[in-house]
Amino acid sequence: MKRVALLFVLAVLVPSVVLAWLAGNSLRDQHYILERQQSLLYQEVADGFAKEAQTVLDEEVRGFGLEVEAMLLAATNNLPHDFDEVLRSRWPLAEVGFVVSTNGVLLAPQATKRAATSVFLAANGRFLANQEVAEVYLNVGNLGQVLNQSLPQPPIQNTALWPNESPADPGQVPAQQRYRSKVPATRNVIPQQQQAALLNTTAELPQFDYNRSRLNPEATGFAQVVGETAQGSLARFVDNRLTVLFWHRSPRAADNIFGAQLALDRLQADLRELFRELKPELRSEVCVAVLDDTAKPVALSHAGFTANWKRPFVATEIGEALPHWEIAVYLLDPGKLNQAARTLKLTLGLLITLLLIAMVVGSWLIVSDLRRQLALARQKTDFVSNVSHELKTPLTSIRMFAELLAEGRVADGEKQRSYLHIITAEAARLTRLINNVLDFARLERGEKKYQFQPCDLAEVVRDTAETLRPHLEQSGFTFESDLPTEPCPITGDRDALAQVLVNLLSNAEKYAGDQKEIRVELRRRTDPLPFVEVNVLDRGLGVPRGCEAKIFEQFYRAHDALNSGIQGSGLGLTLARQIARAHGGDVAYEPREGGGSCFSLRLPLVGQASRLSPS
Ligand code: ADP
Repeated sequence: MKRVALLFVLAVLVPSVVLAWLAGNSLRDQHYILERQQSLLYQEVADGFAKEAQTVLDEEVRGFGLEVEAMLLAATNNLPHDFDEVLRSRWPLAEVGFVVSTNGVLLAPQATKRAATSVFLAANGRFLANQEVAEVYLNVGNLGQVLNQSLPQPPIQNTALWPNESPADPGQVPAQQRYRSKVPATRNVIPQQQQAALLNTTAELPQFDYNRSRLNPEATGFAQVVGETAQGSLARFVDNRLTVLFWHRSPRAADNIFGAQLALDRLQADLRELFRELKPELRSEVCVAVLDDTAKPVALSHAGFTANWKRPFVATEIGEALPHWEIAVYLLDPGKLNQAARTLKLTLGLLITLLLIAMVVGSWLIVSDLRRQLALARQKTDFVSNVSHELKTPLTSIRMFAELLAEGRVADGEKQRSYLHIITAEAARLTRLINNVLDFARLERGEKKYQFQPCDLAEVVRDTAETLRPHLEQSGFTFESDLPTEPCPITGDRDALAQVLVNLLSNAEKYAGDQKEIRVELRRRTDPLPFVEVNVLDRGLGVPRGCEAKIFEQFYRAHDALNSGIQGSGLGLTLARQIARAHGGDVAYEPREGGGSCFSLRLPLVGQASRLSPS
């Protein structure tokens, strides 16, 4: 038993408890796991829109190229000088149009009273005329490839001028587009919830620079940037203000580079268009915004939404075309995440608790069943040795007295009768024992058959008592029977009922101790319904406390044969109860007042269909 218990503890209990503990521990991290999952999901959304925004810019570059080509087709000789005015009248995104000759002469715009033109010339004039280098944002690969002549460069006249014409040869794609980085720069954002959690702690907060960017400007001149590419864009900060310049070169005017400074505020509409693609299931969860370089929203998926713009849930930089601009994702209801985490925690917690309870209850059931099985196995072993002993004792007496009589060694007639009496009694005991064992086996197999018929219980009791009386009285017992003279009608199997009485009476004899007194009585009772009760009373050892219910279990013996010296099989009462219950009655025990036992066989009277037993 100890080994099984140890195995059980090691193989089942310990791993289960460890697993439950680990699961309980992981509950604490559910909030962050959920937040991490959410942030991964929304990061993908931000990355997707950042790519789209980049594409919008690329489209605008192409649109600008088309516009320039159209202008060149309809050009007067004055085009370079009028370029600014004409472009602004035709292309709404232009803030200022400019033309630079390939040898670095700024042909347009002319200095005018227009403020925007003056500001533009002051900020970009020297840079465009190749008189100074400036910090400009370009994709690293792009700039490197343009300057590195080892890669095949497309001749300008072969470049795809029209966006709808897909070039047959990839080499014809302008280098700037070919080498544009396709990987959006993801800003290292601490998600909102984690920030809140961090802010709630007294721990030192990590310094977080919300304007940190992975993009690096290159110090370079305009001619270098353009190189031999047909069209493209560059961005630079002038007086902390972002300036985006587009350029286009045409085979129709190969000596000039046509360009425009972008009116960034007019990009809004294009960018807002992007958010049409936001899926409805995400639209109900998040607001997506395009933030400019000062973290102000330029376009929003949800008009009127406000938040601390510097603390998005996740964000991705658009890229070199619009440096420090970001696609930022905000949770519409940040509390919802907390609530979801709490619900998940609660559900998992409940589940773990239930599993633990099931495990403990299951373990308890297994252990108690194991103990029951072990006890039964022990009782069966005891039963075999008890029965063998019970068979041997009467057999020995029968043989000994039979031999004495057979050899004629007992001359005294009185003694002869006494020996014969012993032989009869021992043979009866043997029969009882064998009957009990056989009946028990039949009951176990469900083969026991009863011959139910109307009979008089008083008569059955009287007959049985009178059969046993001589033996009991000869053994020194005072045997009283208090039975009514009028019949007591019941429906039952006479032999089976007689067997119950024999078992009860022989127990009264076996466990009588020194007080050799037995009484049998028959009473009619009416509580709860009319029934008849046969009581077998003795003044003997009584049933030890705590064993009152167990004595009816198979093989159970309250008086250990070794200590008490009383032989038995532990089947007598089991059988008595089973027979009584088959008759709709029961056998019960209660201690007798003044010492001893009282075993009662209760049976319903004829016409009383009630059952006196619990099953
Ligand atoms: P057994 O063959 O051991 O007598 P039983 O099923 O008849 O088996 O009885 C079960 C146990 O109940 C006995 O071992 C004994 O301890 C107890 N018992 C039965 N009858 C009496 C009695 N009249 N007085 C005291 N104990 C009794």
